[in-house]
Amino acid sequence: MAARQPDAIIVGAGVIGCSIAWALARRGIKTLNLDALPAAGYGSTSHSSAIIRPFYSHITSCALAHEARFLWQRWPETVGTEDERGFARYTECGGLILIREGEEDAYSLNLSVLDEVGVDYELFDSAQVAELYPGTCLDAFGPPRPMADENFGQPSDGRIGGGIFLPQAGYVSDPQLATHNLQVAAEALGAEFRFSARIVSIERDGQAVHGVRLDNGETLRAPIVVNAAGPHSRQINELAGVADSLKITTQPHRHEVAYVTAPAAYIDHGNGFVVDLDAGVYQRPDGKDLLIGSADPDCDPPDIVDPDDYNSEFTEQWTLQVYRAAQRFPMLGIENTARGTVGLYDVSDDWIPMYDKTDLEGFYLAIGTSGNQFKNAPLVGDLLAEIIMAAAKGRDHDETPARLELPHVGRSVDLSFYSRNRKLQKTRSVLA
Ligand SMILES: Cc1cc2nc3c(=O)[nH]c(=O)nc-3n(C[C@H](O)[C@H](O)[C@H](O)COP(=O)(O)OP(=O)(O)OC[C@H]3O[C@@H](n4cnc5c(N)ncnc54)[C@H](O)[C@@H]3O)c2cc1C
Repeated sequence: MAARQPDAIIVGAGVIGCSIAWALARRGIKTLNLDALPAAGYGSTSHSSAIIRPFYSHITSCALAHEARFLWQRWPETVGTEDERGFARYTECGGLILIREGEEDAYSLNLSVLDEVGVDYELFDSAQVAELYPGTCLDAFGPPRPMADENFGQPSDGRIGGGIFLPQAGYVSDPQLATHNLQVAAEALGAEFRFSARIVSIERDGQAVHGVRLDNGETLRAPIVVNAAGPHSRQINELAGVADSLKITTQPHRHEVAYVTAPAAYIDHGNGFVVDLDAGVYQRPDGKDLLIGSADPDCDPPDIVDPDDYNSEFTEQWTLQVYRAAQRFPMLGIENTARGTVGLYDVSDDWIPMYDKTDLEGFYLAIGTSGNQFKNAPLVGDLLAEIIMAAAKGRDHDETPARLELPHVGRSVDLSFYSRNRKLQKTRSVLA
């Protein structure tokens, strides 16, 4: 007997594609994920810093992240299926957003969003910052400068006046393992995965999608195809012939994350992550290491690359980030050998994803995750499933937007926030 044709083909088995498989499988939809790489979560997901934080300037983003945090907190119960490789682990270490004196008002919107969603936070003064992070330099250095600037590394006028401490935040230990956990949970419900299978064509018939073609010439049919191709999202949209119909574009930005040995005081205090827009970096603990990434300051031009042909070696971006972090933590050792990771963000024009249908019937988007959607991954599948199920019931998501219930947060969110047709938001960085 021939194998049953899938109801939905999902392009990609990163954390987003696996979450979609799991959510659709829970609703009785037979899925097939296809990924060009040899295993789940080997794409941009494997490079993720995996910080879980509810700090956003939009209520929907904050509410979704806060709801997802409850799922990460009980991750084995959330996925509900044993994985022989074990479970990814969420560490709730808290996190601090540093604020320069005189710039408190810049965060009033974020604070009102936290209040509205019901997220705990504390406002720290500079003495509390110094107590929590001993050895921190409270000089201001911003706005961040390129390394070639003659004033690079020199304090500017002003001080760090304090920060916003978020106790309900942390990080996930192993993003690739978290993705594998989702794959196993989906497979337990009948989902299928094929690896080392590159899609080279999206098959359409007039106004509807009907499958994909692989690089080995094989054609696979399904009435639903979901683009969850991460940094390759634009290529897949072009194959589907929908790229020109989208008001919002996506493109791959290359990002280096440096790993350095953490100062002892940082580790001894069990400190959480720090977002330091004044220096232009974020850092989070990782065992005995500190992981240092870019906060995308205006002075750094985006490193836009070809996702199939980019430099995976460290460059001066690595050094720049470590130097910036050392402005704040002068006791940080600058190591001779660069360690860390080089990954790609799939960046949308306003750094907010597109989770949506398209004008091509049956073709859906889960793209533009812009370096900040790992945290939401456990819910992204449900979100797409709501949009797909609405269409199955004959409801047009463009006209009557689907909603997602967030039981822990106690509200529901209107999913048109992620529409491909939305008015662009003002957000311009990974903090979104
Ligand atoms: C350096 C870095 C740091 C980050 N830090 C954070 C953070 O701290 N917190 C946070 O919330 N988020 C963070 N993110 C973002 C988060 O990791 C991403 O949003 C998320 O992992 C994207 O998952 P994805 O499944 O969409 O993409 P991917 O993991 O890239 O998966 C897409 C898959 O599609 C496959 N594919 C593409 N084209 C084809 C094709 N033609 N045929 C078959 N398969 C194909 C690829 O092989 C790939 O496996 C970070 C990302 C990076 C890169």
